[in-house]
Amino acid sequence: MKLQEYRSKEILAQYGVPLQAGTTATTPEEAEAIARTIARPVVVKAQVLVGGRGKAGGVKLAETPEEAARHAEAILGMSIKGITVRTVLVAPAANIASEFYLALILDRAAKAITVITSAEGGVEIEKTASTHPEAILRMPLHPLIGLQEHNIRRVAFFLGISPDLRREFRQVLRGLYDAFVGTDADLAEINPLAITEDGRLTALDAKIVLDDSALARHPDLELMRDLNEEERSETAARQAGINFIKLDGSIGCMVNGAGLAMTTMDLVKLAGGEPANFLDIGGGAKADKVAAAFRIILDDPNVKAILINIFGGITRGDEVARGIVEARTTLARHVPMVVRIVGTNAAEAAPILAEANLITADSLDEAAAKAVAAARADA
Ligand code: GDP
Ligand code: MN
Repeated sequence: MKLQEYRSKEILAQYGVPLQAGTTATTPEEAEAIARTIARPVVVKAQVLVGGRGKAGGVKLAETPEEAARHAEAILGMSIKGITVRTVLVAPAANIASEFYLALILDRAAKAITVITSAEGGVEIEKTASTHPEAILRMPLHPLIGLQEHNIRRVAFFLGISPDLRREFRQVLRGLYDAFVGTDADLAEINPLAITEDGRLTALDAKIVLDDSALARHPDLELMRDLNEEERSETAARQAGINFIKLDGSIGCMVNGAGLAMTTMDLVKLAGGEPANFLDIGGGAKADKVAAAFRIILDDPNVKAILINIFGGITRGDEVARGIVEARTTLARHVPMVVRIVGTNAAEAAPILAEANLITADSLDEAAAKAVAAARADA
């Protein structure tokens, strides 16, 4: 789950990272009122869960509260990478002397929380990585003992932080690390981390991405979810207890089990198609859950066919078949459906599917090929 900048800053501030948090506004009048309480100049910033807001015109400096109101008026309602801005952050502006990139990620390949940093802050790190990768330091931390003093020194040296700022830098990196661990994050990023004209360190932008699988441990962070920006289908799936990730293809997939779902997607690709989603319906696919899965899949207008691949273990094949037939009658939109049910009670499932005129398949290769063909015929 991605957190908005102002939420990420709230968290980093709690962990002692120096920054000017600011206050959010949803109207120009509110922005103006906030700006009046802040020593100027102020910065007005679009709160959307995408990078590059600055370049898109979503970050503006204002000398007066009236100017802050005008900027808020221009930014609110603006579309940045397809997302409409509903909230702006109004914060004291900094005079920037230099900008750094500083982040912690969970690097699964290194099996360690890893520092990624560069003295070329402000710009997107992907850009620096492709133009001059030597400008980036990537440093895995020890998985058991975590961030050590020598790690902090190494990063400070790499960035060329002057000796009089070392203590403050230590506070930034220590705070970032504690926030990362404390929130079960996948990513905690400050870009830019600025040195101001008066020689202070401050986090001007922050981004925290939380590990969804650990969210159950953080009910307070769950409340920070921005439903405006979550894919509508992903919200619906989460509420139905279905594991779902939207993709760009045309073949909707409904599968039980995460491994089988990934295999199904691989075979769709092998058959020349593109999966429209990852969907693991979990155990016991009763009609209401199958119906919810259908609605979520069909909410995507790109979906031209659905491939249902169920392995009956504890879940009985005939029960799933009945669930599919029943759920299908509730749908607003119809596309060809290819069903493969194997395992427990597969023999009992077959006549139910045949009677409902569903396309069936015995092997997964065959099912994928039929789904790809059906999607093409429908396109
Ligand atoms: P992003 O473009 O979405 O990453 O948004 P940022 O918050 O990083 O802002 C983009 C750029 O705006 C930064 O790299 C800074 O150069 C500039 N910026 C942001 N806040 C301030 C500020 O307080 N003062 C000044 N002078 N520039 C700022
Ligand atoms: Mn930024």
